[in-house]
Amino acid sequence: MHSASIPTTDHPDLAAPTHARQRVIGHVAAAQPGPCLLCIGAMHGNEPAGVAALMSVISTLTGGAGVELQRGDIHAYVGNTRALQAGRRQVDADMNRIWLRSARKRLDSAVDAERGDSLNPPGSGEGMNSEGRDQIELYRALQAAIDQARGPVYVVDLHTTSSPSCPFIVLGDTLRNRKFARVLPVPLVLGLEEQIDGTLQEFMTASGHVAIGYEGGQHDAHESVAHHEAAVWLLMASLGMVGPTAPARQKHTESLTVLRQASSRMPPVMQIDSRLALKPGDAFELARRFRNFESVQKRQPLATMNGKSLTASHAGRIILPLLQAQGSDGYFLGRDIRPAWLTLSTLMRTIGADEILHLLPGVRKHPDREETLIVDPSIARWWSAELFHLLGYRVRRRQGSVMIVSRRNHGGTLGR
Ligand SMILES: [Zn+2]
Repeated sequence: MHSASIPTTDHPDLAAPTHARQRVIGHVAAAQPGPCLLCIGAMHGNEPAGVAALMSVISTLTGGAGVELQRGDIHAYVGNTRALQAGRRQVDADMNRIWLRSARKRLDSAVDAERGDSLNPPGSGEGMNSEGRDQIELYRALQAAIDQARGPVYVVDLHTTSSPSCPFIVLGDTLRNRKFARVLPVPLVLGLEEQIDGTLQEFMTASGHVAIGYEGGQHDAHESVAHHEAAVWLLMASLGMVGPTAPARQKHTESLTVLRQASSRMPPVMQIDSRLALKPGDAFELARRFRNFESVQKRQPLATMNGKSLTASHAGRIILPLLQAQGSDGYFLGRDIRPAWLTLSTLMRTIGADEILHLLPGVRKHPDREETLIVDPSIARWWSAELFHLLGYRVRRRQGSVMIVSRRNHGGTLGR
């Protein structure tokens, strides 16, 4: 049931911390300038694996184990400090749904007002709910790090799932985000950002930074900490921040092995097609305890909601099935994408071919709306749903015989 109890943990590193609420896990600065990597754990308070992993990474980098930061800065933060302390996904609201475009002005003015003051001044965020206060505090910390960055800024937001899962990546589909994520040998899930609004990674991408979300595995699984650690090491290595000492190379090899083993037999790219949204009070129950990414057949029963049976609209995969009491996504339905489409779409975007799609027969620009095309599939025979998806377009609706497709402008980057 949607009201099932939260699984408890027996993992010593994952026990809800009893110490004081803490934002900063650590900051390591290399002597040489370089990339600024911002890592966030526990944006959801019942996902402590990312925090445990970041503590381990920082202590390895500072512990004299021969793995030192060579270039740039790594900053590690707790996302939702109050929910982490409470051991709950959230206190008042989902903290990874409140980074909306409409929040930017408020957040920026809060930073401007406090710039130069401490990262967590007393009395800030009065009249706000718990996540609103954590959001301002986190944003202030991130902006302070960005102000002092000595190179390009990269963001990785570490999460875990309620269902058993291999590690995977979610990202706003820009070429720079794809390139950053490519170093991790785990599945890439596209299209989540089209289904949910207000994630930190989308917000940071729109701010002009490179940002990805990374899911390390199930909330309480021992391996999730190792999956998070491995990802952070590989990202640092790909940015040229660590190495080339023997212990650093060893870390790199171990990290690759851990993630390759965890993701073996998984498709490299998947696309989310639809989301089952839950409202508070909905009685939701999965048909069984699905694993994340389990294959499903067309019309296979997936869940019941308020007494009604829900079946798969197409053959594909069930993604992020909800096995906990808290959350507003029952499940997502998606499908595998052939990696060749990813390569082709990267090439098309690189040469700007995605800008001239409207010159093709059967495709024209929408007269009123930016980044929107009207497609007549009976004429546009070259049409492929996958290709449009991978160029960043989504089918908005069908109007008679034509389709309206549009794409998000990621903060003016148009997916580049
Ligand atoms: Zn999460």
